[in-house]
Amino acid sequence: MIINAFTVDLEDWFQGLTSTNPLVDQWPQFESRVVAATNDLLGILDLFKVKATFFVLGYVADQYPGLIEEVAAAGHEIGIHGYTHRFVYKLARGEFEREIDMSLEAIHRITATTPLGHRAPYFSINATTPWAFEVLAARGLLYDSSVFPTKNMLYGFPNAPRFPYLLEDSGLMEFPATTMQLLGRKWPIAGGFYNRLQPYGLIKRGIQQVNTQGQPAVLYIHPWELDTGQRYGRVTPRERLTHYYGRGGLRIKLEKLFTDFSFGPMKALLKQEDNAAQGSFGI
Ligand SMILES: [Zn+2]
Repeated sequence: MIINAFTVDLEDWFQGLTSTNPLVDQWPQFESRVVAATNDLLGILDLFKVKATFFVLGYVADQYPGLIEEVAAAGHEIGIHGYTHRFVYKLARGEFEREIDMSLEAIHRITATTPLGHRAPYFSINATTPWAFEVLAARGLLYDSSVFPTKNMLYGFPNAPRFPYLLEDSGLMEFPATTMQLLGRKWPIAGGFYNRLQPYGLIKRGIQQVNTQGQPAVLYIHPWELDTGQRYGRVTPRERLTHYYGRGGLRIKLEKLFTDFSFGPMKALLKQEDNAAQGSFGI
């Protein structure tokens, strides 16, 4: 049976929301809700015995080391998600290196280990940032999951492969966000806003389509997507849709996903890919 990856981008709501993201100096003034929201998600994962990968924002790790300890103690994999949640394609290489080094140090202080994987904030690695993979490989990371192989209003890498692939230059494995082929185009089905927007039947069909092709699906979620109590008045119409729409229905979709499909952390996919390369796909 194919194991799909369940991944969590661990950040607070104001770090992901594009209008508050740049205001790092003001972050301490916003109500932090990440601990409660993450505990809520940990409870659901525990109920369904799902182990996930948490791509942790370095800022959150420094602020709440106990939360990261709790996630790791529950058996989940810890990866990195940058330090201050910058769009990678807006950074110079040196700025990206600093984001990565600070996030690795933050995790290492807590777990005394070096993570294997990275997810860029806003899936913001694209054709303009080929150096990003070199930076990650040079620091001993084994995989990346930052490619969004279609396009939306904020990000995308439309010509990238849909399924996991080896980056020959750096030796990293890339695990793109999952898309399904629908009406002649690639359609994101497996995470964040798209999970909240689309009916469960379509998400299920998409994962089945991918698995039928012998490929794992890569799903992602943010703890703030489950936090129906979080309110912020000064949002744009686009943010009202992409950040807030469909929060109330997400928990039931997760429960259905965990019932219908098999999920594991991203490092299980790495092993699955190794087995596939040796001609024994599936674990
Ligand atoms: Zn993020």
